[in-house]
Amino acid sequence: MSTPVVWPASARYEEVESSAPGGLGFVQDLLNTASLGKPRQADLLESPESARQWLDSSFAVLHRVDPGAPAAPHGLGPDGLRRVLSLRDDLRTVLSSGPADESSETVAVPSIETTAAVTLGAGGARLSPHGDAVEAVRSYVLIQLVAASYGGTLRRLKVCANPRCRGAFYDRSKNCSRVWHDVSTCGNTQNVRAYRARRKERGPASAQ
Ligand SMILES: [Zn+2]
Repeated sequence: MSTPVVWPASARYEEVESSAPGGLGFVQDLLNTASLGKPRQADLLESPESARQWLDSSFAVLHRVDPGAPAAPHGLGPDGLRRVLSLRDDLRTVLSSGPADESSETVAVPSIETTAAVTLGAGGARLSPHGDAVEAVRSYVLIQLVAASYGGTLRRLKVCANPRCRGAFYDRSKNCSRVWHDVSTCGNTQNVRAYRARRKERGPASAQ
């Protein structure tokens, strides 16, 4: 019997079996390092020391699900930490905007850029992370999102619609219709009403 995959940041407030599959689980874990949920959890990237602890534990899980993932960056300096934080925040904004949402005038959606190596060989075509330490992590994260986008699973990685939660979850429902990470804690009547009002404000393209 294999031990379950437990992502350290995501496990703070969600069911273990609802994590995103493979390397996408690492992207979800990065999103969930933020001070999120209800009740609020600590920001795991608050200091270089807490960030190093999270990186060590999350990469240990990542290397189990994807042995080809890059090594964890050693000792995150202030600049490295700032870049991981901006990746996390930009990702949340991108995922909150939703792939089918055309009402982007109301939310400025950032464009996240990185580089990757493309190889075509006997095993087919593949993308590999490029760059040192933090840049390799950024590259790896974006490669997971590209792969999920091509594989049709990116739309399942979502940010909870409760503005006081904003946790990342993986929607395994058949019609991919979930908007709350946990309907019992976040999908209360007040939140549902506020969510509908926001959708309405943002235009007919996102109102369904
Ligand atoms: Zn939530």
